[in-house]
Amino acid sequence: MSKAQLDGPRQIDLYASHEPIHVRQVPGFFSQLRLALRWGGFALLLALPWLSWNGEPLLRLDLPARHFQVFGFTFFPQDFMLVSWLLIIGAFALFTFTNWLGRVWCGYVCFQSVWFSLFMDLERWVEGSRNKRIRLAKASWTGEKVRLRALKWLLWTLLAGATALSIMGLFVPIDALLAGLATWSLTGWTVFWLGFFAVVTFLMGGILREQACLYMCPYARFQSAMFDPDTLIVSYDAARGEPRSAKKRAAEGAGDCVDCSLCVQVCPTGIDIRNGLQYECISCAQCIDACDTVMDKLEKPRGLIRYTTEHDLAGKPSKTFRPRLIGYAAVLLAMISTVAIATANRVPLELQVLRDRGSLYGRVTTDAGALRIENVYTVRVVNKDRAPRTVTLAVTGLPELTIDGPQTLELAGQEVRTEIIRLLAPPPAAPNQELRFTLTDTADAALRVARESRFLAPGQTP
Ligand code: SF4
Ligand code: SF4
Repeated sequence: MSKAQLDGPRQIDLYASHEPIHVRQVPGFFSQLRLALRWGGFALLLALPWLSWNGEPLLRLDLPARHFQVFGFTFFPQDFMLVSWLLIIGAFALFTFTNWLGRVWCGYVCFQSVWFSLFMDLERWVEGSRNKRIRLAKASWTGEKVRLRALKWLLWTLLAGATALSIMGLFVPIDALLAGLATWSLTGWTVFWLGFFAVVTFLMGGILREQACLYMCPYARFQSAMFDPDTLIVSYDAARGEPRSAKKRAAEGAGDCVDCSLCVQVCPTGIDIRNGLQYECISCAQCIDACDTVMDKLEKPRGLIRYTTEHDLAGKPSKTFRPRLIGYAAVLLAMISTVAIATANRVPLELQVLRDRGSLYGRVTTDAGALRIENVYTVRVVNKDRAPRTVTLAVTGLPELTIDGPQTLELAGQEVRTEIIRLLAPPPAAPNQELRFTLTDTADAALRVARESRFLAPGQTP
């Protein structure tokens, strides 16, 4: 039984003021892994606006032009369904990996935990070890404290500024952005968004830190719904560690935990993992490294705190492949395959047809004196490819139908063209006829899109 269970429920003052957490740095596999991942991730973000694919940006969210370029694919607003599916796949992947590996997202990949750890790295480099930082925080404002705080805030500002520039570089060309910054010629909106991203990064990474995870992140609240007894969690082995003893010569029957509190001092959310699984735990594994160093010194086996499962802790066999995880993985795989096939076979043309809502129909008499019924349509054509293409527009559904408007269109790469066309036909038998508009690439007839619309006419032939 853990000490927390023996002590009974914890008392929490909901109105207590926030105590800053001064995290101790310990060497170890997980610390090194997280260090490499966060600085590698930051380097990737810095590089992303500069990377290109076949002469186009690798990732560009071009809002004024209303298209997104993602790894060689161009997505238009008409591809909203595809983008929605990508978001659904992302959410489902999160569920799958959470069921399997616990909060691996929070500990290693999430922007918030990665960025507040970057801010902590800079803090540690400027202000020194945990004990020095605690002393500095308590010290009165001397010249040295002002110097250290100023240097830290300068580095934090540079980090926030570089992050904001890189994020903005995904929306506008980075070279134009830097040139505009150098010549003070950025637009008001660009300056606003740069400032917004910089301030939010500074606040979330430098000031709020773990509080964003504890009080703002909804995922922390519902992630336990994805857990099962075989989910990988960071856990303290109470059966081995208790009763803990801080005495140098532990009493007979004492557990392996020497109550050194190192696992608490390294925790970025300030919790004691010995109190059991808590929603505040972001699974960063720093307490594993900390406890392993203690066990090494005591010449005891590592793993008093370790990645394990509830079943394992209870002495039952853990199953990696269980029905719930297999189900999640199967659905995820099916969704990824479907979206991959749909993306690969995507016709790089889009056609929208909108009947003129201002008038139902018109009557027109031809030069030969024949009566024709006229309907007007707004046709929007999109070439989603970077290469130019020529397309033809055809309409079927009525006999002797003629198109008054362009039927062959030369489209530039990624061009969106809007045309008004009139359809003329002899008075049809029914007042509401179905039509089919077809757009076909002249170079490849297999590349075609079709849309349905209606042709309205008087109820009775006049
Ligand atoms: S308890 Fe351990 S794994 Fe959880 S947040 Fe704290 S240090 Fe990270
Ligand atoms: S680091 Fe290990 S030995 Fe020290 S208090 Fe935590 S669990 Fe106990």
